Amino acid sequence: MVPIDLTGKNAVVFGVTNERSLGFAIGKKLKAAGARVAMTYQGERVRPLVERATRGVADRLFELDVTDEERLRAIVRELGQSWGGIDAVVHAIAFAPRRAMEGKYLETTKEDWLKALEISAYSLVAIVREAMPYLNEGAGVVALSYYAAEKYVPKYNVMAIAKSALEASVRYLAAELGPRGVRVNAVSAGPVRTVAARSIPGFTLLWDHVEKVAPLRRNVSQEEVGNTGLFLLSPLAAGITGEVVYVDAGYHTIGIPDPGTLDV
Ligand code: NAD
Repeated sequence: MVPIDLTGKNAVVFGVTNERSLGFAIGKKLKAAGARVAMTYQGERVRPLVERATRGVADRLFELDVTDEERLRAIVRELGQSWGGIDAVVHAIAFAPRRAMEGKYLETTKEDWLKALEISAYSLVAIVREAMPYLNEGAGVVALSYYAAEKYVPKYNVMAIAKSALEASVRYLAAELGPRGVRVNAVSAGPVRTVAARSIPGFTLLWDHVEKVAPLRRNVSQEEVGNTGLFLLSPLAAGITGEVVYVDAGYHTIGIPDPGTLDV
């Protein structure tokens, strides 16, 4: 057995709503590996829910709207100083106005386009910049992406463009932070039933489609995404950076689905 021991390491997960959140799934694994874990959620209203869901996993909880850069800076400073450094950062934040996901991509307004890119992609740059002074040698950053970053997926619209920007940011940040011994990667997860996923029109159709045609003939679990996040943030992945690792039951490797798998 090759154990992952993160005892004495400090991790912060940005973007947790409940126990189904992919950020929570990674945080849970980091905690099980021995790390100290902080999590952020959005909106004081959901605090009791988040507290209940993260009990025994999150050592610290912070409310954060990631567009509030002063608040972001204060949280990262508080963690970096009180912990004496940060070893793992998880970016699990995405948002696009609903109307931008329902209509045609061509009809996306400038306001909605910028909002989606700001929250879902620029926030990674802001988080990493604020965390930089506190990141220990060997630290890792993981962001969560989706296949629509590279191929057309119906209804994904502006969120697809945000994921493309997120993945490109991963490569640029990896190049800039690499010389300081910090790694930056993305996990591209297949469809998983979460609050954010429910806001994607046609999510159930997508889910059913993957189950039929993916090489493993199923969807992936939160736990599988959590395990890959843990791996990328552990010394086992010390030679991996600037990478997008797919956890999608092999779906992205399919060019033309096996005709036997489609109801046509
Ligand atoms: P989720 O709803 O549990 O998490 C999304 C989080 O983003 C929430 O905690 C929400 O509060 C946070 N967020 C949104 N706007 C914010 C803001 N302005 N400030 C701070 N936080 C904000 O859903 P999830 O599916 O776990 O999403 C996590 C990540 O995984 C997202 O980047 C998502 O795109 C990605 N992802 C999800 C799937 C899937 O099928 N669920 C697949 C691939 C990638």
